Amino acid sequence: MFSLNKKQPFYLLKSKLVLALMLLFIGVSVSFQSTSIHKKEVTIYIQPLGNIDPDCLEYIKKSVIDFYGSKCVIKPKIELTNDLLAGSKTRYEANKIIEKYNSNSNVLLITEKDIAYRKSVQFPEWGIFGLGFRPGKTCVISTFRLKRNVSNQQMLVRLKKVALHEIGHNLGLSHCTHNKECMMNDADGTIKQVDREKIWFCEKCWAFLQR
Ligand SMILES: [Zn+2]
Ligand SMILES: [Zn+2]
Repeated sequence: MFSLNKKQPFYLLKSKLVLALMLLFIGVSVSFQSTSIHKKEVTIYIQPLGNIDPDCLEYIKKSVIDFYGSKCVIKPKIELTNDLLAGSKTRYEANKIIEKYNSNSNVLLITEKDIAYRKSVQFPEWGIFGLGFRPGKTCVISTFRLKRNVSNQQMLVRLKKVALHEIGHNLGLSHCTHNKECMMNDADGTIKQVDREKIWFCEKCWAFLQR
């Protein structure tokens, strides 16, 4: 589906990790898990790309802290650059974004612009909600496809799921097929799956993180 194992440009890190790209599409919530999954203290940096509502950034920051038990710091915004635009010039290439900002820090990039991924020849600019290295340290999420026909609050809940999903990929999690309510499901491009999910990882995904 949308978890792709793209080898080429992603054999970058010294650890020889296969940095597979995992796409996401996720959604609404109820229950909470809040245990620190990190054995040592980790800081996740939130990097706004262009203007993002400060309340939105704070909400995502709190969501990351609550769910992962990590520290979280919001960085000053930087602007998306034209070299990251897709061929149509109407959206940005998610893989280029995470490659450009990949570093030794854990970074969650957020944009309001549409982001896309080259799914196939037929769909060279397939719009997505988020993309992250698996495993790795960098992921990107976009509000663009999450806000259609819903309130700001509903959009934020979706964005939270997408953020926690992409960080899950960074931590090594693959897409989940164990439980439809798990945030690590691949929603296959539909917002319905995002909305079906809880703010929750199933026992399999959770066990993977605690290994
Ligand atoms: Zn995914
Ligand atoms: Zn799961």
